[in-house]
Amino acid sequence: MLKIPLKYSRVSSKFDKNRFHPVLHRHKAHLGVDFAAPTGTPIWAAADGTITFIGRNRAAGNMVVLDHGNGMVSVYMHLHRFRRGLDKGDEVRQRQVIGYVGSTGRSTGPHLHFGVKVNGVYVDPMKLEPRRADPVPARERSVYKKISSAFAQALTQLPPPPEKGILLPVKEPVKTAVEILNQKIQKSVRKESKKSKGKSSKRASKKR
Ligand SMILES: [Zn+2]
Repeated sequence: MLKIPLKYSRVSSKFDKNRFHPVLHRHKAHLGVDFAAPTGTPIWAAADGTITFIGRNRAAGNMVVLDHGNGMVSVYMHLHRFRRGLDKGDEVRQRQVIGYVGSTGRSTGPHLHFGVKVNGVYVDPMKLEPRRADPVPARERSVYKKISSAFAQALTQLPPPPEKGILLPVKEPVKTAVEILNQKIQKSVRKESKKSKGKSSKRASKKR
């Protein structure tokens, strides 16, 4: 998830659960970050996702809402206009342009109001932590384990570092860690593909 989904000039209003509203003149939570930027500045999708709302929404003006799965939702308000051709239900990729900065709805000047919801609750986008990656899928785990154990083994086989200040002459060029690792990986992948070929030909012959 991008913390900043556009090229902006300054943060004009931070995430604040109890700010004094400049237009409403009362305390009202500001559940997002305002990025001041010239009208027409492209706005990017903060992450891969699906458009769940695109249209006019009262004080929010022209608004886009993206669902990123895993309980993550991002919200973009006050757009000048949307990127042509986008509709509700469309999939977007991270950094794809979804619209342009404007001042529609309740707004005092061109800016993007950017909000992020996690499991239905607005959070400060600037404080988002990098998320843990998805685990290796079950069907790829055996290959993953082979490659990672080859890597661990390769690390133990590295030549020792030269004595401080003395460079010993070497008869053979010393393999770099990357070279050793690549050989190990290629070997285990070759083995793996031989195995799976064997399996599939067996299966095929059974069918016949
Ligand atoms: Zn705002």
